[in-house]
Amino acid sequence: MSSTRTPRRIGILGGTFDPVHIGHLRGALEVAEMVGLAEVRLVPNFRPPHREAPNSSAQDRLAMVRLAVQDLPSLTVDARELERDKPSYTIDTLESLRDELADDDQIFLIMGWDAFCGLPNWHRWDELLDYCHILVMQRPDADSEAPEALRDLLAARSVHDPQALAGSGGQIAFVWQAPLGVSATRIRQFLASGQSVRFLVPDAVLAYINAHGLYRASN
Ligand code: ATP
Repeated sequence: MSSTRTPRRIGILGGTFDPVHIGHLRGALEVAEMVGLAEVRLVPNFRPPHREAPNSSAQDRLAMVRLAVQDLPSLTVDARELERDKPSYTIDTLESLRDELADDDQIFLIMGWDAFCGLPNWHRWDELLDYCHILVMQRPDADSEAPEALRDLLAARSVHDPQALAGSGGQIAFVWQAPLGVSATRIRQFLASGQSVRFLVPDAVLAYINAHGLYRASN
């Protein structure tokens, strides 16, 4: 008797998460519901190759992401990039995920518009779509123009309806989740100047920040 198994649709949201905030969490949840993803994995970066070192340790960032998703069955944490002793390359993460998943499972790489615009600086960026589809979330505080290097890609690979993305990869769709003008940079600035970040991060994350004295001006 042949077993019938439904292909899984898995979202990947990589980031520094320094700290994780409602922009990441609402975005991940809304995209999961809109596109019908079984799971969105939040993947904290160890040492992002194209940006400055994170402000808090990998251990603290991972702990905060775990606290943030603890009551959310559709959001999970994937710590594989923190376990590698080398820069975090998304292409490596996608390759290792592809090895673990069934051939007909779909991977959706989720990123904000600002991250998408920086794609041409990523290691082997032109191979990413061999492994996944890309879902781009709007960010109200981001520049609106796509860089030149991405225009041809967008023209060739964009589809209008994110729910229509078929096959194991190769296409790009935009998802119009409720825009939240929040960033980790802003949250770190609030904390450094002694202001409240209540409601910008989950209460459990705020409790962790306070208990560990993170992002204070003296750190
Ligand atoms: P920082 O301010 O330190 O650069 P950040 O708030 O942009 O941090 P990251 O961890 O760098 O957070 O972001 C991880 C991913 O989440 C990126 O793809 C980013 O574009 C996306 N993202 C972050 N904040 C939002 C937001 N408010 N709305 C939509 N996407 C977001």
